[in-house]
Formats: sequence, structure tokens, C-alpha cells
Amino acid sequence: MTKFLPTLATLAALAALMPAAAQPAAAAEPVLLIHGGAGTLRAADMSADDRAAYEAALHAALEAGWRVLESGGSALDAVTAAIVPMEDSPLFNAGRGAVFTADGRNELDASIMDGATRQAGAVGAVRWVRNPVLLARRVMEASPHVFLAGEGAIEFAIDQGLELKPSSWFRTERRWQQLQHAILQGALPIEPDQGRFGTVGAVALDAGGRLAAATSTGGTTAKRWGRLGDVPVIGAGTWADTGCAVSATGDGEYFIRAAAAHAICARMSLGGDTPAAAASGVLEEIRALGGLGGVIVLDGAGRYSLSFSTEGMYRGRADAAGREVAIFAGEEP
Ligand code: ASP
Repeated sequence: MTKFLPTLATLAALAALMPAAAQPAAAAEPVLLIHGGAGTLRAADMSADDRAAYEAALHAALEAGWRVLESGGSALDAVTAAIVPMEDSPLFNAGRGAVFTADGRNELDASIMDGATRQAGAVGAVRWVRNPVLLARRVMEASPHVFLAGEGAIEFAIDQGLELKPSSWFRTERRWQQLQHAILQGALPIEPDQGRFGTVGAVALDAGGRLAAATSTGGTTAKRWGRLGDVPVIGAGTWADTGCAVSATGDGEYFIRAAAAHAICARMSLGGDTPAAAASGVLEEIRALGGLGGVIVLDGAGRYSLSFSTEGMYRGRADAAGREVAIFAGEEP
């Protein structure tokens, strides 16, 4: 029997037949983008102190993620590291400081995706889990599943030894007052485009050319309990593959119906769109359906877009040149 001994030429021919996803990514200049939600907010309505607090929180998230990328860490670790401090900050609608459901609870959604392997993890409607993004990552890495919700997800968090916090940890007076305001307006649960702002997200490109994305939220103020938005729906609020990573924020129901994050990457890979063109195309599609919001988009060459159809989006970018944050339209980045 003749043994098949591959020559270098055959190996090269076999490598050429491998799908792009299986080929090692090229070296890249690392980039990290973050957002802290998009919504109706005018510069004139924001005090200097509030602005400084948000900017400091965005910088802290950028620093945490950038430290990972700078030391040669993975895009996956960078997006995780960037999200955790924003979940712990009471300023954002994720983890601590999440909005309340119509019946006065905090129900948290999060997801994460590794572009290089196309592995993904998501959790929906979880309570008491301090960092839902860490739970989404455990779902991805320590379970055979992609998406866990409700009690089963909380039980999995306990099994995994993740930190739980009492309800009081998540409660902030500001979010509680937003719920009271919604109650006074009547008609609960309210429309999804009211009373949110503050979902957090991150996308990163690491030195090995790998992309990742993650998003975390408390959802929408006075939502019906059990409601899941776009954030934990892979392809809607979060997507990463070998050429593109996206994290979204906005009217979740519309982002689901547009398969927003995946649609942006498909426009780039199939249609040759730039990140900016793909982002504005999908945001327009969502606007036509009746929704508003924003996205952060990054490709494998480090080209990016931080786009929104609202008046503002908390956002930031880190690369070798430095760290920048912005809130309103017309500001860099
Ligand atoms: N997209 C989130 C949701 O619908 C909310 C937001 O991003 O502001 O749950």
C-alpha cells in the first residue's frame, strides 16, 4: 500500500482550498471601540459634572480593554475587559445601574462573539449576576449552548461560581425615578424607544488580526418582564466574524427585525461596503422600520465606524495613537 506523503506543494495547494475562516489571520494594529448607549440627549441638557463623569467612565473602560490589546492579548479578552467596568458603573444601563422592568426588577441581557472561531455566548433576562458579560462568556466557553435565559442562566452562573449581588446592588435612584415617570405616564409596559440609553458594547481587533464583539444591557425602562431585546440575540445586537465586528444599541425590537449586526457585516463582506457605509445603510433601514440607535463597527484592517441615528452616543476609541471619547454628534471619534 502506498502511503500518502504530502509534499510542500500539496500542502500549499490544500491550504489554498481551506475556507478563509480556517486560515490564520494576518498581523494587525490593534483597535478597540466602545459605546455606552445611544439616545435623545442634547449637549445643552448635560451638566459639566455629568459630562466629566461619563467621560471618565468611558476612559476607564478604554484603558481596561486597551491594556489587554497592548500586551498582546486577544480581542475576546479586550472586549470582556472593557465591558466589565461599564457594567460595574452605575452610569450605564448594564449590570449596576440597569433600568427597571414594569414590575420593578432589573433583568439583564448580554452577549459575546469571537470572530476567529465564530463561537458565541448570550444570556437573557438574568438577575443578580454582577457581570452578565462574564456569564455570556461562560455560556460560550463552558457549555455546549449559545443562549441561556432566565432561571436556567442564573443557575448556570451559580454553577460557574460567578459573583452574584443582591437586588440593591443594581438599583440606582435615577433608574427608579425613570420607572416612576413611566408609571405616571400610564400604559405599562411602555414603548421600547422611551426611557433607555446606556447599553454598553465593545468591539476589538487584536495584534493577531482577530476580531470580537460584546454587548450588555438592562434593556428598556418599564419593559414587560421576560422581554428580550437585540443585545442577547446573536446577529442582531452583537456579531463578529473574521472580517467584521459589531455591537449595537438602540430600539432593540427593530434591531432584531433588521438582524442589524449581521446585516452590517454582510454588507461589508458581500457588498464591499466600508464600515461607515454599512452602518449608515442598516441604521437607515432601521429608521424606515421605525427605530433609532447606534452601532460600532470594526473590520480586519482596523477601519471603523461609530455611527448613530440618535442625537448622541457615548463612545470611545483606543489605538496605538491614544484614547478618545465623545458623546454628541459632530465630536470625534
Ligand atoms: N438595545 C437595547 C434593548 O433594546 C437598549 C439600548 O440599546 O438602549 O434592550
